Amino acid sequence: MYLHGTSKVNEKGHLEIGGIDTVDLANEFGTPLYVYDVSLIRERARGFKQTFENLNIPAQVAYASKAFSTIAMVQLADEEGLSLDVVSGGELYTALAAGFPRERIHFHGNNKSKEELEMALKNDIGCIVVDNFYELELLSSICESMRVNTKILLRVTPGIEAHTHDYILTGQADSKFGFDLQNGQAEEALVKALKLERIEVLGLHCHIGSQIFETTGFILAAKKLFEKLHEWKDAFAFESKVLNLGGGFGIRYTAEDQPLPAAQYVAEIIEEVKKQASHYSMKMPEIWIEPGRSLVGDAGTTLYKIGSRKEVPNIRKYVAVDGGMTDNIRPALYQAKYEAVLANAPLEKACETVSIAGKCCESGDMLIWDLPLPKSDSNDLLAVFCTGAYGYSMANNYNRLPRPAVVFVENGVAKLVVKRETYEDLIRMDMSIKEKINN
Ligand SMILES: *Cc1c(COP(=O)(O)O)cnc(C)c1O
Repeated sequence: MYLHGTSKVNEKGHLEIGGIDTVDLANEFGTPLYVYDVSLIRERARGFKQTFENLNIPAQVAYASKAFSTIAMVQLADEEGLSLDVVSGGELYTALAAGFPRERIHFHGNNKSKEELEMALKNDIGCIVVDNFYELELLSSICESMRVNTKILLRVTPGIEAHTHDYILTGQADSKFGFDLQNGQAEEALVKALKLERIEVLGLHCHIGSQIFETTGFILAAKKLFEKLHEWKDAFAFESKVLNLGGGFGIRYTAEDQPLPAAQYVAEIIEEVKKQASHYSMKMPEIWIEPGRSLVGDAGTTLYKIGSRKEVPNIRKYVAVDGGMTDNIRPALYQAKYEAVLANAPLEKACETVSIAGKCCESGDMLIWDLPLPKSDSNDLLAVFCTGAYGYSMANNYNRLPRPAVVFVENGVAKLVVKRETYEDLIRMDMSIKEKINN
């Protein structure tokens, strides 16, 4: 059993997180329940920030809030001195409602609407990451009509795609995001942007993938960006103040995953950027990175109550829980793997292999295949680890299941940060076609 952060087995033999017995958490807040180990989130945030600070390198570590966007999480990111990435009006609204400092908010997305851009400008956020020519023109025309200025990064695709253990060098990066660096579109965008009076180009942005376990992709990306930046310095007297290398730092979901410490990614990125800057005699840009999953992923645990069981002799034992693809769609969406234990008996020896099924009407609604587990009963508590990223943020109401509650635990204190949805919430937006609805 691999325990993350402050998770441990307490004297009652139960799983404890943040100094609180998970059995008590389930009793108090119900199941399914997302539990976040706040001190682990703080530790992860400091892991990314510290190396920059120690080496005195101007930087921003922006939490990619799409991984888990709620008021409480945005506030925690602020407490840790992070910046914030948002990718929609809704995420921006959440950030503003949480009181996040607007100058540290960055707005991403490949199809921001006019209304979203206006919202960003009206609130004078730190920068807009411009993704395509349509957006560049739209943004410029909105700036003109609102008579405001804005700062932007140009999102480019450097022709590198990183995926877990390998990275691919693609000549023509086939991606829906960003301006291609190889085929001249990035340069064309820069030339256009430099002519726009109300727009200041701070620099370049790239994001090469997700669940990356090596530094190679980031280093190659930095190299590719500098190759262009040095051409652009000569051609257009353009100097990038900011180099944003994106997120995608990998985490340990199962024993197959071996992530690097944040400090190592950061140290190697700094070293490469320094090397490139001095090679081309360019000023050292501010380095921005955007971890999402790696800040919150392993800090989240989902507690489920076990219900029914079905045995197909000689084939499989299904154990069903009271949630599923509604609170964690990642296994169904991309065969994501997770580890889990019985929260009320984590040390008990496994004696059978079971597969954990959700309760939705989809055969694909399986959370974990082939999990070694002690003999379990209905009402036992299953804890699935590492559900902190893209769990709650992708949660849905399929089969009209209410979305679970979220609690933050830290130093023996549990704080409800998202209430469990009620049946009333589920029909809140529904309109009746009758004059009156029963009850
Ligand atoms: C999703 C995303 C991130 C965060 O990715 P993680 O894998 O969660 O670290 C960072 N930057 C951009 C532009 C993204 O789209």
